[in-house]
Amino acid sequence: MRGADQAIVGRLRRLLRSAADLVWPRQCQICGETRFCERFAFLCDGCFASVSPIVPPWCERCGLPFSGLVGENASCPNCHDAVLEFERARAAVRFRGVVRRAIHGLKYRNELFWIPALEAWFLEGVAHHLEGERVEIVVPVPLHPVRERQRGLNQAALLARALARARGLPFAPHVLERVRPTETQTCLDREERQRNLRAAFRARLPKTAAVRRVLLVDDVLTTGSTLSECAATLRAAGAEAVLALTLARG
Ligand SMILES: [Zn+2]
Ligand SMILES: [Zn+2]
Repeated sequence: MRGADQAIVGRLRRLLRSAADLVWPRQCQICGETRFCERFAFLCDGCFASVSPIVPPWCERCGLPFSGLVGENASCPNCHDAVLEFERARAAVRFRGVVRRAIHGLKYRNELFWIPALEAWFLEGVAHHLEGERVEIVVPVPLHPVRERQRGLNQAALLARALARARGLPFAPHVLERVRPTETQTCLDREERQRNLRAAFRARLPKTAAVRRVLLVDDVLTTGSTLSECAATLRAAGAEAVLALTLARG
Protein backbone atom coordinates (compact mmCIF):
# COMPACT_ATOMS: atom_id res chain seq x y z
CA MET A 1 0.00 0.00 0.00
CA ARG A 2 1.29 3.44 -0.86
CA GLY A 3 2.07 5.89 1.94
CA ALA A 4 -0.85 8.16 1.05
CA ASP A 5 -3.30 5.21 1.13
CA GLN A 6 -1.97 4.07 4.51
CA ALA A 7 -2.48 7.55 5.90
CA ILE A 8 -6.10 7.57 4.68
CA VAL A 9 -6.78 4.11 6.16
CA GLY A 10 -5.22 5.20 9.46
CA ARG A 11 -7.34 8.35 9.55
CA LEU A 12 -10.50 6.33 8.75
CA ARG A 13 -9.72 3.86 11.54
CA ARG A 14 -9.28 6.67 14.07
CA LEU A 15 -12.52 8.25 12.91
CA LEU A 16 -14.44 4.98 13.26
CA ARG A 17 -12.95 4.35 16.72
CA SER A 18 -13.95 7.78 17.99
CA ALA A 19 -17.43 7.33 16.50
CA ALA A 20 -17.75 3.98 18.33
CA ASP A 21 -16.55 5.60 21.59
CA LEU A 22 -19.25 8.24 21.23
CA VAL A 23 -21.97 5.60 20.92
CA TRP A 24 -20.46 3.11 23.34
CA PRO A 25 -17.78 4.77 25.49
CA ARG A 26 -15.30 2.61 27.40
CA GLN A 27 -14.50 5.04 30.16
CA CYS A 28 -16.45 6.20 33.21
CA GLN A 29 -18.71 8.97 31.94
CA ILE A 30 -19.02 10.52 35.39
CA CYS A 31 -15.43 10.81 36.64
CA GLY A 32 -13.28 9.87 33.62
CA GLU A 33 -11.78 6.74 35.28
CA THR A 34 -10.60 4.33 32.56
CA ARG A 35 -11.05 1.16 34.62
CA PHE A 36 -14.76 0.54 34.25
CA CYS A 37 -16.97 -1.70 36.38
CA GLU A 38 -17.96 -5.27 35.52
CA ARG A 39 -21.50 -4.48 34.39
CA PHE A 40 -21.12 -1.33 32.33
CA ALA A 41 -18.15 -0.06 30.31
CA PHE A 42 -19.25 3.55 30.87
CA LEU A 43 -19.16 3.57 34.70
CA CYS A 44 -16.36 2.85 37.17
CA ASP A 45 -16.92 0.76 40.32
CA GLY A 46 -17.07 3.84 42.55
CA CYS A 47 -19.66 5.68 40.45
CA PHE A 48 -21.71 2.50 39.99
CA ALA A 49 -21.74 1.94 43.77
CA SER A 50 -22.77 5.56 44.45
CA VAL A 51 -26.30 5.01 43.10
CA SER A 52 -28.69 5.17 46.08
CA PRO A 53 -31.54 2.65 46.08
CA ILE A 54 -34.66 3.76 47.95
CA VAL A 55 -34.98 1.91 51.24
CA PRO A 56 -37.79 2.01 53.82
CA PRO A 57 -39.29 3.81 55.61
CA TRP A 58 -41.21 5.73 52.98
CA CYS A 59 -44.60 7.41 52.58
CA GLU A 60 -47.20 4.68 51.91
CA ARG A 61 -48.88 6.88 49.31
CA CYS A 62 -46.21 8.66 47.29
CA GLY A 63 -43.15 6.59 48.24
CA LEU A 64 -41.11 9.56 49.53
CA PRO A 65 -38.34 8.10 51.69
CA PHE A 66 -38.09 9.40 55.27
CA SER A 67 -34.85 9.46 57.16
CA GLY A 68 -34.74 7.66 60.49
CA LEU A 69 -37.68 6.11 62.34
CA VAL A 70 -41.15 7.35 61.58
CA GLY A 71 -44.04 7.39 64.06
CA GLU A 72 -47.52 6.23 63.10
CA ASN A 73 -48.86 9.75 62.69
CA ALA A 74 -46.02 11.07 60.60
CA SER A 75 -47.44 13.02 57.69
CA CYS A 76 -45.63 13.17 54.40
CA PRO A 77 -44.45 16.70 53.50
CA ASN A 78 -45.11 15.94 49.84
CA CYS A 79 -48.66 14.65 49.94
CA HIS A 80 -50.43 15.22 53.28
CA ASP A 81 -52.69 17.91 51.75
CA ALA A 82 -52.49 16.80 48.10
CA VAL A 83 -55.12 14.91 46.12
CA LEU A 84 -53.23 12.09 44.43
CA GLU A 85 -55.21 9.93 42.05
CA PHE A 86 -52.89 6.91 41.96
CA GLU A 87 -53.23 4.14 44.52
CA ARG A 88 -49.57 4.43 45.40
CA ALA A 89 -46.28 5.42 43.80
CA ARG A 90 -42.90 3.77 44.26
CA ALA A 91 -39.46 4.48 42.84
CA ALA A 92 -36.24 2.49 42.44
CA VAL A 93 -33.46 5.00 43.15
CA ARG A 94 -32.89 8.59 44.29
CA PHE A 95 -32.78 11.26 41.58
CA ARG A 96 -29.27 12.48 42.27
CA GLY A 97 -25.61 12.07 41.22
CA VAL A 98 -25.05 9.39 38.60
CA VAL A 99 -28.78 8.70 38.09
CA ARG A 100 -29.58 12.37 37.48
CA ARG A 101 -26.66 12.66 35.06
CA ALA A 102 -27.77 9.51 33.20
CA ILE A 103 -31.42 10.59 32.91
CA HIS A 104 -30.44 14.06 31.68
CA GLY A 105 -27.78 12.63 29.34
CA LEU A 106 -30.30 10.39 27.60
CA LYS A 107 -33.10 12.97 27.62
CA TYR A 108 -31.23 16.09 26.48
CA ARG A 109 -28.00 14.86 24.87
CA ASN A 110 -29.17 11.64 23.27
CA GLU A 111 -26.54 9.56 25.17
CA LEU A 112 -28.03 6.20 24.26
CA PHE A 113 -25.32 4.26 26.12
CA TRP A 114 -27.15 5.00 29.42
CA ILE A 115 -30.19 2.90 28.41
CA PRO A 116 -29.01 -0.51 29.76
CA ALA A 117 -28.05 1.04 33.11
CA LEU A 118 -31.35 2.95 33.47
CA GLU A 119 -33.34 -0.19 32.61
CA ALA A 120 -31.33 -2.32 35.04
CA TRP A 121 -31.69 0.16 37.94
CA PHE A 122 -35.43 0.36 37.25
CA LEU A 123 -36.13 -3.37 36.91
CA GLU A 124 -34.03 -4.35 39.91
CA GLY A 125 -35.30 -1.49 42.08
CA VAL A 126 -39.04 -2.00 41.53
CA ALA A 127 -39.19 -5.82 41.43
CA HIS A 128 -40.14 -6.15 45.12
CA HIS A 129 -42.93 -3.56 44.74
CA LEU A 130 -44.64 -5.89 42.27
CA GLU A 131 -44.60 -9.03 44.39
CA GLY A 132 -48.17 -10.29 44.74
CA GLU A 133 -49.43 -7.30 42.73
CA ARG A 134 -52.18 -7.82 40.17
CA VAL A 135 -51.92 -5.47 37.17
CA GLU A 136 -53.10 -6.06 33.63
CA ILE A 137 -51.19 -3.61 31.44
CA VAL A 138 -48.11 -1.39 31.54
CA VAL A 139 -48.68 2.19 30.35
CA PRO A 140 -45.93 4.82 29.98
CA VAL A 141 -46.49 8.52 30.72
CA PRO A 142 -46.61 9.89 27.18
CA LEU A 143 -44.80 12.86 25.70
CA HIS A 144 -46.64 15.18 23.32
CA PRO A 145 -45.91 13.86 19.77
CA VAL A 146 -44.06 17.09 18.87
CA ARG A 147 -41.79 16.82 21.94
CA GLU A 148 -41.21 13.10 21.25
CA ARG A 149 -40.14 13.88 17.69
CA GLN A 150 -37.72 16.56 18.97
CA ARG A 151 -36.18 14.20 21.56
CA GLY A 152 -36.25 11.10 19.38
CA LEU A 153 -37.41 8.90 22.26
CA ASN A 154 -39.58 8.75 25.35
CA GLN A 155 -37.66 7.49 28.40
CA ALA A 156 -40.87 6.48 30.18
CA ALA A 157 -41.78 4.26 27.22
CA LEU A 158 -38.32 2.60 27.22
CA LEU A 159 -38.67 1.78 30.92
CA ALA A 160 -42.29 0.63 30.59
CA ARG A 161 -41.44 -1.66 27.68
CA ALA A 162 -38.51 -3.21 29.57
CA LEU A 163 -40.72 -3.83 32.60
CA ALA A 164 -43.57 -5.28 30.53
CA ARG A 165 -41.15 -7.64 28.82
CA ALA A 166 -39.54 -8.73 32.08
CA ARG A 167 -42.92 -9.39 33.75
CA GLY A 168 -44.70 -10.89 30.74
CA LEU A 169 -47.34 -8.13 30.75
CA PRO A 170 -48.80 -6.29 27.74
CA PHE A 171 -47.02 -3.01 26.94
CA ALA A 172 -49.67 -0.43 26.03
CA PRO A 173 -48.08 2.80 24.77
CA HIS A 174 -51.24 4.09 23.07
CA VAL A 175 -53.68 3.79 25.96
CA LEU A 176 -52.69 7.23 27.24
CA GLU A 177 -51.99 10.20 24.94
CA ARG A 178 -50.73 13.71 25.66
CA VAL A 179 -53.11 15.83 23.64
CA ARG A 180 -51.96 19.26 24.81
CA PRO A 181 -48.30 20.31 24.84
CA THR A 182 -47.38 21.46 28.35
CA GLU A 183 -44.61 23.71 29.60
CA THR A 184 -41.72 21.94 31.27
CA GLN A 185 -42.63 21.44 34.94
CA THR A 186 -39.15 21.88 36.43
CA CYS A 187 -39.61 25.43 37.75
CA LEU A 188 -43.29 25.21 38.71
CA ASP A 189 -44.74 24.64 42.19
CA ARG A 190 -47.45 22.04 42.81
CA GLU A 191 -50.40 24.35 42.07
CA GLU A 192 -48.81 25.64 38.87
CA ARG A 193 -48.02 22.07 37.83
CA GLN A 194 -51.64 21.02 38.29
CA ARG A 195 -52.88 24.01 36.28
CA ASN A 196 -50.29 23.34 33.58
CA LEU A 197 -51.43 19.70 33.27
CA ARG A 198 -55.19 20.26 33.17
CA ALA A 199 -56.77 18.39 30.21
CA ALA A 200 -53.31 17.47 28.92
CA PHE A 201 -54.05 13.74 28.60
CA ARG A 202 -56.62 11.46 26.98
CA ALA A 203 -57.06 7.75 27.74
CA ARG A 204 -58.74 4.84 26.01
CA LEU A 205 -58.57 1.49 27.77
CA PRO A 206 -58.75 -1.74 25.76
CA LYS A 207 -62.34 -2.95 25.61
CA THR A 208 -61.66 -6.18 27.52
CA ALA A 209 -63.24 -6.35 30.94
CA ALA A 210 -60.01 -7.82 32.32
CA VAL A 211 -58.06 -4.55 32.04
CA ARG A 212 -58.86 -2.68 35.23
CA ARG A 213 -55.60 -2.29 37.13
CA VAL A 214 -52.98 -0.25 35.33
CA LEU A 215 -49.26 -0.01 35.98
CA LEU A 216 -48.20 3.51 35.05
CA VAL A 217 -44.49 4.16 34.41
CA ASP A 218 -42.42 7.39 34.30
CA ASP A 219 -38.73 8.25 34.61
CA VAL A 220 -38.83 10.66 37.58
CA LEU A 221 -41.39 11.48 40.28
CA THR A 222 -40.96 14.95 41.80
CA THR A 223 -44.30 16.03 43.33
CA GLY A 224 -46.44 13.35 41.67
CA SER A 225 -48.59 15.89 39.76
CA THR A 226 -48.01 14.34 36.32
CA LEU A 227 -48.62 10.77 37.52
CA SER A 228 -51.71 11.91 39.41
CA GLU A 229 -53.16 13.66 36.34
CA CYS A 230 -52.46 10.55 34.22
CA ALA A 231 -54.07 8.34 36.88
CA ALA A 232 -57.16 10.59 36.99
CA THR A 233 -57.47 10.36 33.20
CA LEU A 234 -57.09 6.56 33.26
CA ARG A 235 -59.66 6.22 36.04
CA ALA A 236 -62.13 8.43 34.19
CA ALA A 237 -61.67 6.03 31.24
CA GLY A 238 -62.59 3.05 33.42
CA ALA A 239 -59.43 1.95 35.26
CA GLU A 240 -60.19 0.78 38.80
CA ALA A 241 -56.77 1.56 40.18
CA VAL A 242 -53.43 2.88 39.01
CA LEU A 243 -50.12 1.84 40.53
CA ALA A 244 -47.29 4.22 39.59
CA LEU A 245 -43.65 3.17 39.29
CA THR A 246 -40.74 5.45 38.44
CA LEU A 247 -37.04 4.91 37.99
CA ALA A 248 -36.10 7.85 40.20
CA ARG A 249 -37.51 9.87 43.06
CA GLY A 250 -36.69 13.58 43.37
ZN1 LIG B 1 -16.50 7.03 37.84
ZN1 LIG C 1 -46.31 11.08 50.47
